[in-house]
Amino acid sequence: MGDEELLRWVGQLEHIALDMDGTIYMGSDLFDCTLPFLALLREKGIGYSFLTNNPTKSAEDYIARLASMGVECAPNQIYTTAMGAIDYLRTSRPELRRLFILGTESMTREFVAAGFEPTADSAEDEPDAVLVAFDTTLTYDRLCRAAWWIAQGKPYIATNPDRVCPTNLPTVLVDCGSLCAALATATGREPDITIGKPNPDILRGVAARYGVAVERVAMVGDRLYTDVQTAHNAGAMGVLTLSGETTLADADRAEQQPHLTINSLADLGELIKRAKSC
Ligand SMILES: [Mg+2]
Repeated sequence: MGDEELLRWVGQLEHIALDMDGTIYMGSDLFDCTLPFLALLREKGIGYSFLTNNPTKSAEDYIARLASMGVECAPNQIYTTAMGAIDYLRTSRPELRRLFILGTESMTREFVAAGFEPTADSAEDEPDAVLVAFDTTLTYDRLCRAAWWIAQGKPYIATNPDRVCPTNLPTVLVDCGSLCAALATATGREPDITIGKPNPDILRGVAARYGVAVERVAMVGDRLYTDVQTAHNAGAMGVLTLSGETTLADADRAEQQPHLTINSLADLGELIKRAKSC
């Protein structure tokens, strides 16, 4: 994209959907540029929200976590893949009420609050569907129980396709996509639907909620196969930030190129200042 076209696009932005891990913070460290960037968006009248594939925390827990880092976030500014799964089930599969859930307690509480009933880890307690999430409390028995119901042909929904979750700790956080890979090996079935990025419905939902055209939304994130792909799939602007897991070499090799690649949110802030002053 040429410089002029880029500035025009940035100048027309009405909403920025921000990935969290690797984009506004890494693990528990908020990036220095995050608060000034959000202040700039408020000053320029550009809306923003946080769109994360990570469903381990409820919206309430995310808001508290962001507040502890100094980031103000209203309940309507956060959207997780657990919320996406709830919206999907309500609108597309309302008959599925009883769920066998591989997920954290915080996430399961969100489903209970939304009227769903989690089933027990027992062959006697038959669910309507299986929901597999990024389960940081995973146990072997529950993984086997999920595999059993999936093998029985129950509707199978996954919250997010991520293979790993970024971290600054010396470990690999095995994410929902990897659990689904294990279940696929065990059962021969892939999820019937995976809710999170790159499924464009999640970004179209953001645009609809804020009443803006999806072409005037930018999705900013540190991953090609989720964040940038979502933008392409939805017809939004895809901004890759190199502040997380993707290197410039990865970006150069990518089949679907980001509309814009930045080192951090500070670069996008500079572009917004230029675009909004012309
Ligand atoms: Mg990320």
